[in-house]
Amino acid sequence: MDILNYIDGALVGPRSNAWLDSVNPATGSVHARLPRSGADDVQAAVEAAERAFPLWSGNTAQQRSEIMLAIARGIQERLDELALAESDDQGKPVWLAKAMDIPRAVDNMSFFATEILHTHTRAFETNATVINYTLRQPIGVVGCISPWNLPLYLFTWKIAPALAAGNCVVAKPSELTPLTAFLFSQICIDAGLPPGVLNIVHGLGAECGKAIVAHPRTKAISFTGGTLTGADIARTAAPMFKKLSLELGGKNPTLVFADVDVDAVAKKVARASFTNQGEICLCGSRIFVQRPIYDAFKHALLRETATITVGDPREATSRNGALVSEEHMQKVLSYIELARHEGGTVLCGGERVHVDGRCSNGYFIAPTLIEGLGAACRVNQEEIFGPVATIMPFDTEEEAIQGANSTTYGLAASVWTNDVSRVHRVARVLESGIVWVNTWLERDLRTPFGGVKSSGVGREGGEEALRFFTEAKNVCIQF
Ligand code: NDP
Repeated sequence: MDILNYIDGALVGPRSNAWLDSVNPATGSVHARLPRSGADDVQAAVEAAERAFPLWSGNTAQQRSEIMLAIARGIQERLDELALAESDDQGKPVWLAKAMDIPRAVDNMSFFATEILHTHTRAFETNATVINYTLRQPIGVVGCISPWNLPLYLFTWKIAPALAAGNCVVAKPSELTPLTAFLFSQICIDAGLPPGVLNIVHGLGAECGKAIVAHPRTKAISFTGGTLTGADIARTAAPMFKKLSLELGGKNPTLVFADVDVDAVAKKVARASFTNQGEICLCGSRIFVQRPIYDAFKHALLRETATITVGDPREATSRNGALVSEEHMQKVLSYIELARHEGGTVLCGGERVHVDGRCSNGYFIAPTLIEGLGAACRVNQEEIFGPVATIMPFDTEEEAIQGANSTTYGLAASVWTNDVSRVHRVARVLESGIVWVNTWLERDLRTPFGGVKSSGVGREGGEEALRFFTEAKNVCIQF
């Protein structure tokens, strides 16, 4: 199958005619090829977006909303096909793509399509004869670059607010997971999105992604991906004074206090650690447990982890599928090896899983729990982004907070306790953009989403995203 670029409303191959292979990580075999786009493809996309901008930004919010809602319906109608494609491309179970990724892409489109119908602007009455009001205007052509772990989910999470606010977009999905973005371009054509409003250019990050960031006429960059890539993007974009939203890596702490229901919370913590093979930036990878329940909790978590079947992503019984690529699998395995060298004990998992039949060459790793490591070691400091979590005891609330805050990351934390005063105390001092209490991955699309420290700059979600994709202009009138 050939995946094509979507430029100026048409599905086209790369100008250089250079292609890349796309591998299904559950089988290890090539299942599609995608354009290896370069700066000339990005140039064509930027020019198309510039041509489309006056028309798209001149539409009423209602007109933009109607087209975006048609796109949302198009995703919904092709849910089964998209879920299968997402699974084949990324390795996640089909049931998970059906339950989480694709419905969330529908929600992203419909949420921002309707949010723009309910926004307001501000006015400031300076005195009896002077009034100020603030216009929020679209920026122009913006770049959206997304990662491989939640492909269509994160791709639409950026594109939807950008389009809703009236911008035209040049977007690049990860080279590892281009398939649903390609299907999405067909859906946009069918929904009647005018040519050039959205352009999707496939290729390598260092070539095509970099060309989007370096292009002098992409005025804002919304990026989700690794922290090192984020730093590279900032180096390129900052001298051009582009607006930047960087959603980066995480090393999220899970704090379990002694007052919880051990079995019930262990179930939820296993989900928070290992869902999507641990390839969610929000997964809790460092589990701190208060000492009085440490042993009981550890055993409950091990029992729960043992129920996570790893297998063919197309089987409904597989709780976890394959990791995204052989390279990534090797990276995760190397961190498990490092954990052993750093003095950790692998309590479960710790190795590649062989799946019989169709998936015998797939990239599977068993959910892995490691104990005996200090908070400062590399395994507890660096993002692994796989089905690997560490478990550590703590005595006091202060100790737990210190451990939680001890990395350079600050994306999401989860706190498990029934003590409401503790909830407020701990939530205030955790160095984290998101704090979940007695839950995980509970998302309300109106809330600010993003990280602190090396986990990023800026916030997505609701009003924050619409603010990012607009410029505020103050109009001051003397009358
Ligand atoms: P990468 O940073 O490698 O890539 C992200 C995207 O950027 C891909 O489309 C990639 O293309 C592209 N890219 C790579 N290099 C450049 C460059 N120099 N200039 C412009 N674009 C570039 O991240 P991964 O895809 O490996 O995703 C995993 C990371 O994403 C993890 O660190 C994870 O924590 C983070 N993440 C953060 C989230 C958040 O909300 N904070 C959510 C989800 C993931 P290509 O793939 O072709 O190289």
